[in-house]
Amino acid sequence: MDFSEPEHITMIRDTVRKFVAREANNEIIAKWDKADHFPMEIHRKIGDLGLGALTVPEEYGGAGFDLIAMTAVIEELSKASGILAGMYIHTACYGGMNITSSGSPEQKAQLLPRVVEGSIFFAYALSEPDVGADLAATKTTAQRKGNKIIINGAKRWCSGATIADYLLLLVKSDPDGPRYKNLSFLLVPPTLPGISITTVETMGQRGSPTCDVIFDNVEVGLDAILGGEAMWNQGWSQLAGPALEAEKLEVPAMALGVAEAALAEAWEYSQQRSQFGQRICSFQSIRHKLADAKTKVQACRNMLYWAAWLLQEGRPAAAETAMTKLFVCDTCRDVVLSCQQILGAYGYAEGFSIERHVRDVLVYPIYGGSSAIQLNNIANRLGLPKA
Ligand SMILES: Cc1cc2nc3c(=O)[nH]c(=O)nc-3n(C[C@H](O)[C@H](O)[C@H](O)COP(=O)(O)OP(=O)(O)OC[C@H]3O[C@@H](n4cnc5c(N)ncnc54)[C@H](O)[C@@H]3O)c2cc1C
Repeated sequence: MDFSEPEHITMIRDTVRKFVAREANNEIIAKWDKADHFPMEIHRKIGDLGLGALTVPEEYGGAGFDLIAMTAVIEELSKASGILAGMYIHTACYGGMNITSSGSPEQKAQLLPRVVEGSIFFAYALSEPDVGADLAATKTTAQRKGNKIIINGAKRWCSGATIADYLLLLVKSDPDGPRYKNLSFLLVPPTLPGISITTVETMGQRGSPTCDVIFDNVEVGLDAILGGEAMWNQGWSQLAGPALEAEKLEVPAMALGVAEAALAEAWEYSQQRSQFGQRICSFQSIRHKLADAKTKVQACRNMLYWAAWLLQEGRPAAAETAMTKLFVCDTCRDVVLSCQQILGAYGYAEGFSIERHVRDVLVYPIYGGSSAIQLNNIANRLGLPKA
């Protein structure tokens, strides 16, 4: 057993911390949060750090798949803001991991070098107004007409649709086909004629546009099929394929970074604030909250990097990644809410980062497979009989 962090990952953390201190400190992030706008310039600057290479094979200019390093990048960026980490995830994970695992040779050659340089942005278009956890019930249709594909339907909650180069669009490609064999993935630029996008207001995640996307007879070529023509109607196998387990670690990595930031703020505040002539860190109720939060965050870290290590080693980890998504997201939400209490009224007001962390952390147990769905996954993967 060796729990020490490899040197190159410690160096990557250092690079990201310096970048955040320079380009995205709390004051800067607070302005972006208030304006509900993250400048795309910051996406380019994250790209300049060269960390897109961590999800791309060497033959396409990457550094080879380094899941532990990728997780560390997400954790460090999330200490500043989950949205900042999202900017990295949309490129390195949604793009790098999916195109590597499911792209055709042409798509890999065309898109992966842009992932490495951080100059491309992908958005997931999976959910629909009536389709949440049950993605196999996707209603948006794609109909083949000769060399063309015609798309009609509506996607909802598509984060980053307004700023993406490509939507990773899940469509029903065979209306009469059996469940799980009737879906395809398409790579669709959101600027095509027939696509209209409107943003949906959410309580947190400000700066990451969450969008409704309508498709009205949108036309793409067969080269839009992720993985090429042979993958028509094979979209479910791509969704539930090799990239899925690693994808389950992105959200908990964000949750961990946000919880660590909230805890650091509460830890510091407890030593500055005095009541009844004493620093509040001397009260047992505050000490216990902080000690409890430190313990829970440590448990989350261990679990997250354990799951990342399993995957990096190529070991089976379907139940373990589901446990990690469930436990880390739920626990980090609880930690952030507990830390907010330590700041009293100031934890509810602008000025400290914790009110932003509260708004942001609440979504982590919801998206990327809700906690209830992870519980189902764990019981199913561990073979618990249903009858
Ligand atoms: C800020 C934000 C950003 C998002 N970004 C994206 C994005 O970029 N792309 C995208 O495609 N989607 C995105 N989503 C959508 C997100 O992935 C969905 O919200 C999520 O999949 C859950 O779907 P739903 O909200 O429709 O809930 P539903 O599936 O309708 O579930 C409602 C409730 O029922 C429970 N439930 C459902 N099925 C079961 C079951 N079988 N067993 C037990 N309980 C169950 C759920 O846990 C939940 O509590 C985003 C959502 C938000 C809020």
